[in-house]
Amino acid sequence: IGVDVRAARIPRYVRVNSLKWTVDEAVKTFQRGGYAFGNPHDEMKFARDTHVENLLSFPPQTQLTDTPEYADGRLILQDKASCFPAVVLSPPAHPGCVIIDATAAPGNKTSHLSALMGNQGKILAFERDRKRYGTLKSMLARAGCSNVEALNGDFLSTDFEDEKYSRVTHILLDPSCSGSGIVNRLDRLLDSGAESSDVAHTERLAKLAGFQLQMLRHAMKFPAAEKIVYSTCSIYPEENEQVVLAALQSTEAIAGGFNLATRAEVLPAWPRRGQPGILNDTDTEAVVRCSPGDDGTNGFFVSCFMRRSDTHLDLG
Ligand code: SAM
Repeated sequence: IGVDVRAARIPRYVRVNSLKWTVDEAVKTFQRGGYAFGNPHDEMKFARDTHVENLLSFPPQTQLTDTPEYADGRLILQDKASCFPAVVLSPPAHPGCVIIDATAAPGNKTSHLSALMGNQGKILAFERDRKRYGTLKSMLARAGCSNVEALNGDFLSTDFEDEKYSRVTHILLDPSCSGSGIVNRLDRLLDSGAESSDVAHTERLAKLAGFQLQMLRHAMKFPAAEKIVYSTCSIYPEENEQVVLAALQSTEAIAGGFNLATRAEVLPAWPRRGQPGILNDTDTEAVVRCSPGDDGTNGFFVSCFMRRSDTHLDLG
């Protein structure tokens, strides 16, 4: 199936930012604007999503970037699958909690985490790239996220033993990937044309996977980390199940007692699970995949690591 055909099957998703608005108010506003509940592939119809709270879906070509609600941060344009990581991480919402978003820009998932926390506690949001850090800052300001400390730095060079990270319990890790699951963005279409040869493709994937594993192993070293969500917008097992497998077999996971959370804790109602034959059967069931176009989303992968309660990190 061609990329453009699959793209046409992906609704325009809009997350209502609960820091600024309610979904009921949003629904009324859209109804006043001429939309009615129905199949989001039909003109002027929209629907409430069944997997993600506060998410609405509209026909694929719907333009919402010129609305006042988008401009003032009440609405956030975010693909359904890219809402899954924050939902799975399910961050605590109390004044003392501290969490990390390790790879934050442009900030869709950071602002989603902030909304789920009701602006309580603290999110330390890392972004290495200076320009993308600027985008992150303006996105957080627009979305009214007051519990985020944005940091222009490399997550890999953070000292996990530093006192300021001693209370970090939850980490979201959504690192750079091949982007191979994205079928409805022009930059991705241009990118796929640039994949020149099988050798270059294999080398590129190996490099990305090495980096992703390094990030995951680093996250596991934070002494109070209980829960780590690892996600990509890639369809390749090299960046997904294979990275998860290597992470589970690493010293950090073994010494720290990290396992995968079970299916019951990772969007149990979502039918598409991991690619078989890489992880064991239980762990294959415990991870989530989205197939581009087929699931009404872009391609995506989500996994969730949990520290066993009878262990604590002692890596020396
Ligand atoms: N989570 C973001 C969102 O939902 O809006 C998207 C993140 S994007 C897939 C990955 C980001 O990680 C890029 O902006 C990239 O510059 C940043 N990044 C890559 N390596 C990093 C590192 N070592 N430390 C911090 N940020 C990094």
